[in-house]
Amino acid sequence: MKVFKFGGASINSAERFIHSAAIIKSFESEKLLVIVSAMGKTTNALEEVVEAFTSGHQQKAIELFGIIKQQHLETIRALNLSNTEICIQTLQSLFTETEWLLHDQPVQSTDYYYDQIVCCGELFSSAIMNCVLQDKGAKSNWTDVRDLMKTDNHFRNATILWDQSSKKINECIIPALENHDIVVTQGFIGSTDENESTTLGREGSDYSAAVFANILQAESVTIWKDVDAVMSADPKKYPDAAILESLSYTEVIEMAYYGAQVIHPKTIKPLQNKNIPLLVKSFINPALKGTVIGHKSQQPLPPIIVNKDKQVLIEFTSKDFSFVEGQTMNELVGLFGQLRISPNISQQTAISLLCGFDDHPEKIEALSLAASALFEVTVQKNLTLLTVRHYDENIIEKLTGQSDVLMKQQTPRTIQVLFRKIS
Ligand code: ASP
Ligand code: MG
Repeated sequence: MKVFKFGGASINSAERFIHSAAIIKSFESEKLLVIVSAMGKTTNALEEVVEAFTSGHQQKAIELFGIIKQQHLETIRALNLSNTEICIQTLQSLFTETEWLLHDQPVQSTDYYYDQIVCCGELFSSAIMNCVLQDKGAKSNWTDVRDLMKTDNHFRNATILWDQSSKKINECIIPALENHDIVVTQGFIGSTDENESTTLGREGSDYSAAVFANILQAESVTIWKDVDAVMSADPKKYPDAAILESLSYTEVIEMAYYGAQVIHPKTIKPLQNKNIPLLVKSFINPALKGTVIGHKSQQPLPPIIVNKDKQVLIEFTSKDFSFVEGQTMNELVGLFGQLRISPNISQQTAISLLCGFDDHPEKIEALSLAASALFEVTVQKNLTLLTVRHYDENIIEKLTGQSDVLMKQQTPRTIQVLFRKIS
């Protein structure tokens, strides 16, 4: 069997649903598990519902949710399916789940409500996809992934419980694929032992697809995207960006970790661990080859350029001129663990440690505050981390010439520069 993942852009309108369903249908003889993201920008819209609800604007939350409902219902009507009524009924019962919650007063944490509300985006879109496939005559079945993908209760960034999830996934998906050609389910979401919904972190559907593939020993995973293939740089910023036909797991995990938007960085490990190839293909033009990710990269590789914006540099300097080592260092690393934050780049001097992080404002504030018991702390924001793999001599000068460079690191394969653009 194969695993397919369709992102929000591939199902952001009735036309795209039909187009993506046709791609799926053309592979129906393969036995497919299809993971679907929320439609278009639905996850962002649901985040606004959460924001209104948890900040005491219940009426506004209900109205905003009403708009999301309407968009889904309009899409269903525009699809003109033979099973429209069944599709609407399915969605109505999913709507009710969220509406009940929105009519209560919030008493739990924001992150808890985030997951209970935001998870519905993928439930709606996948239910629609299943109806479209059935309307086209496919033997397709819909599964609520929350019955299978078990996680801890770290809401908004839950960790998958592999043993429990494996058992449930094997028990459910294997027989389902004996009776059907296609099983449609959701990425990005799961549930706790107590059946509370959880999410795995934004853009997490790629990761879900990889987890399913690992557990089910899939033949391959295909991520269908609105780009022709993985490129050596963002073509909007770098007109010289080249298509990469084949990449190693190592190359991709490094690119994704340092900010390449193409695949969620957590996707690679479950695939590499089981030798499962990952294909990145264009849903717009499925005839294109796309990129194959596996054990080997094409040779030679062009310079691969990745930018990560919204970076923060924190400098932790000892208060009394003692070295940054031993117990104080352990305590600092302990703080990173507690806050679930880890540096993207770091450098040590005799009496200070410099670390670059993604700017999660609450976490950065909490870290600075807690670390100020141990160190002098200074924070610089609005920085960019540029990573170039397989660089040549001129490229860094060309890319950071007009900038204020705050940190630079170089290995034979990779250069990284943390800088502030001079405006
Ligand atoms: N819908 C979720 C998001 O937009 C998950 C995903 O698309 O991967 O973050
Ligand atoms: Mg996405």
